[in-house]
Amino acid sequence: MHVQFWGAARTVTGSMHLVRVGSHSVLLDCGLYQGRRKEAFQRNRELPFAGHAIDAVILSHAHIDHSGNLPSLVRRGFDGPIYSTAATRDLANYMLLDSAKIQESDVAYVNRHRIAEHQTPFEPLYETEDALATLRLFRTTEFGQWFDVAPGVRCRFHVAGHMLGAASVELDLTAPDGQRARLLFSGDIGRAEMPLLPPPQIAADAEFVIMEATYGNRNHPQGADDSATLIELVQRIIAQKGKLIIPAFSVGRTQEIVYRWNQLHEAGRLPSIKVFVDSPLAVDATDVYRAHPLCLRPELMRDILNEPDRDPLNFRDLYYIRSELYSKKLNDFDEPCVIISASGMCEAGRVLHHLKHAISQERNAILFTGYQAEQTLGRYILDGHETVKIFGKEFPVRASVHKLESTSGHADQQELLQWVTATCRAGRVRRIALVHAEIEAATTFKQLCAERGLPPCLIPGREQILPLDRLTADLPTHE
Ligand SMILES: [Zn+2]
Ligand SMILES: [Zn+2]
Repeated sequence: MHVQFWGAARTVTGSMHLVRVGSHSVLLDCGLYQGRRKEAFQRNRELPFAGHAIDAVILSHAHIDHSGNLPSLVRRGFDGPIYSTAATRDLANYMLLDSAKIQESDVAYVNRHRIAEHQTPFEPLYETEDALATLRLFRTTEFGQWFDVAPGVRCRFHVAGHMLGAASVELDLTAPDGQRARLLFSGDIGRAEMPLLPPPQIAADAEFVIMEATYGNRNHPQGADDSATLIELVQRIIAQKGKLIIPAFSVGRTQEIVYRWNQLHEAGRLPSIKVFVDSPLAVDATDVYRAHPLCLRPELMRDILNEPDRDPLNFRDLYYIRSELYSKKLNDFDEPCVIISASGMCEAGRVLHHLKHAISQERNAILFTGYQAEQTLGRYILDGHETVKIFGKEFPVRASVHKLESTSGHADQQELLQWVTATCRAGRVRRIALVHAEIEAATTFKQLCAERGLPPCLIPGREQILPLDRLTADLPTHE
């Protein structure tokens, strides 16, 4: 019995861990690796196993860095079940089709040049057909209920509080020789005080823990109510007749921002300004949020079910945009406005067009609301680069650049520590593997765990194996 780390190992994206029990293989997540274009292209293409070698997949949540390479696995012969919560499946329906479209158009763009230069065209990583085939493999289950995944592998989901339907995955493993182990994969860990979502739950019996440590070296500002920052920024945009561009994940972050905006709006704290959510995926995802009130905080569940007039994801001055035509019209829209658009790290999607039009004028502003991975356009802008490349052309950055801390969907250092301490107290934890973090974040967090007397932490590299047998688990593992 072991787990082998194939993605989000000493990096944040591309979550993928392979659990082996006897002759059976279960994959935890199958995410897209995002980073330097060439490296991402190769890494996502070269899956380290054939599709038919995997018995089943368990998906922690729908974010593309966890789900986005499932269609590649299917294209390479996987036809087993993909287990997730119902909300995750409903979000994945839209997200995987959207991702397929991005793959197709990315390759079409590159191939135009390759064909002109008489080079062999690339194949897309996957296509719409692969995404559709993937969606047929989903099997959904409720939080808290055990289900069989493969011989020797049982599973149940716990609320992770990170996005709608997001789960921590608990596995009860039995090897052919009768040895047993309890493995807990945190998925992405949310926060106690998320606007829309309930707080993360703690699993009781974990022995081995794979946990995310994205913010292992940082705390979100304490009690920071950055509403004041937001209000001031909006006032400034109105005075300067500019645009406020908010790059945001279509799923999760966009709904959180809209809900916060709605609250400020209801409280009469925001000056009147048109807000456009420009992303067809965000529009679809918002419908999925409304369709799963049981996954939201109880008070919101009540509002959605009891008082449809009080839609927490709508307000006057808010416009959801699907059509490309209207999206393009925003370029010439000359009133001050706010545009919330994807992708969150500015790697693709409509936000690139809005940035292209807005980034070089001082009257505009860009507001980041989430984590920006290394080597992404979002990170370059946030790090203060004077010029950035958009669609292959250099643009000077003259718009002001800001970041909202309180909207992060990830637990910060303090919250991660609370989560792991509670998990260790409730269980019999022997080892902790830190994933989904850049190396500095993971190293700091490992040290912190050691200072608190928690069980030993491992920061697994790609391909590294963590044995899950009790006898071998305590042996030092090569790092
Ligand atoms: Zn996530
Ligand atoms: Zn993630």
